[in-house]
Amino acid sequence: MQTIKSLGINEKNHLTMGGLDVARLAKEYGTPLYLMDEDIIRENCRIYKNAMDKYYGGNGLVLYASKAFSCLHMCRVVHEEGLGIDVVSGGELYTALKAGFPMEKVYFHGNNKTRQELEMAVENNVGRIVIDNRTELELLSEIAREHDKTIAVSFRIKPGIDAHTHEFIMTGQIDSKFGVALENGEAEEIISFAASLPNINVVGVHCHIGSQIFDIEPFLLTAEKMVNFIGDLKDKHGIEITELNLGGGYGIKYLEQDNPVSYDEYIKNVSRVVKEVSDKRKIKLPKIIMEPGRSIVGPAGITVYTVGNVKRIPDVRTYVSVDGGMCDNPRHIMYGANYEAVLVEKPAAAAQEVVTIAGKCCESGDILIRDIALPQIKTGDLLAVLVTGAYNYSMASNYNRIPRPPVVMIKGGKAKLVVKRESYDDIILNDI
Ligand SMILES: *Cc1c(COP(=O)(O)O)cnc(C)c1O
Repeated sequence: MQTIKSLGINEKNHLTMGGLDVARLAKEYGTPLYLMDEDIIRENCRIYKNAMDKYYGGNGLVLYASKAFSCLHMCRVVHEEGLGIDVVSGGELYTALKAGFPMEKVYFHGNNKTRQELEMAVENNVGRIVIDNRTELELLSEIAREHDKTIAVSFRIKPGIDAHTHEFIMTGQIDSKFGVALENGEAEEIISFAASLPNINVVGVHCHIGSQIFDIEPFLLTAEKMVNFIGDLKDKHGIEITELNLGGGYGIKYLEQDNPVSYDEYIKNVSRVVKEVSDKRKIKLPKIIMEPGRSIVGPAGITVYTVGNVKRIPDVRTYVSVDGGMCDNPRHIMYGANYEAVLVEKPAAAAQEVVTIAGKCCESGDILIRDIALPQIKTGDLLAVLVTGAYNYSMASNYNRIPRPPVVMIKGGKAKLVVKRESYDDIILNDI
């Protein structure tokens, strides 16, 4: 339970979140249910924002990576907290647009943006387009010309950093579908070509070396390489890069044993490297951008399920099946991710048996937690899986035509529905 700050236990011995009885919320909104603490989300935004202000003297911008969790309400919260936003698709851009997010603070990423998406970005004056490859650059230049606009761009660089994290979420090395490589000159070539294009304004370089990274070292190495690259562009090509975007990827505490470095500490150390290398290369300190996603929303969320059947297979395993699964949280089946969970109506009870929490989808791999020690558990109990605020709702699917759960945000001791539960009519909405 220490993985989520706002959890507590009330006089009924029930789990609370932001002071509210989770069992009561489950009754009111039904299960499965995503619960998120808006106060924690806001606090996390401020931790990043304050650290950036402190270490870069205001010459920095924090973008929330909205793929971690996006909905209209979330975009509004992020805007109110003064952050920018990063989007990777027309759908995420549309959400920000509809939420009234200021478009100059939107950064558009992605390794295969379509013409339609690029046109949407250009028409709506998105602040930055982060170019992934030459095809995209040429397409954007054409669209910019058609719209008679000059587009400010940044470039996704593979700095050649091998961060110690899961292979699927490791993106800094040369064998990656994202971006252009430093070590073979590809990055230099595309940027000098871009600088020669009339409707393109080269302002930044960007990298993102992976996700759920606990070490500080890969971030420092990356910062060093990127600032040196900015120095090379200036010395060799006379191109002045004014913006360095160092991406996201800061690890969070999913399990008690996880030990992330404080975000302030990361930013402090990275800023030291950025300043040192900028001095050495005699370049003006670039504006620094960072893009945390998981670390802003992950520790703010839990998912509440109702336990259905408990299948005890003697000497093998006990399967506890819940009313959701990989359809609302595919992280175990995708990454082998692990979670902690508590019984909502007896969160403090001592563990009595080791069980496996399974979902209700037609896949043997549809597991939420393998081998977790829990108190005696029975049909009808409410189970809360912890730290599900990031990459759960945003990765949810309608597999097996299961409607997606609602999202309820808690703020200042009050609960508010921000995403409705899908209905069966929603499921067939586009069927003809
Ligand atoms: C996914 C992603 C992020 C956010 O990563 P987290 O691990 O959620 O902090 C930031 N920038 C880019 C380009 C990304 O693809």
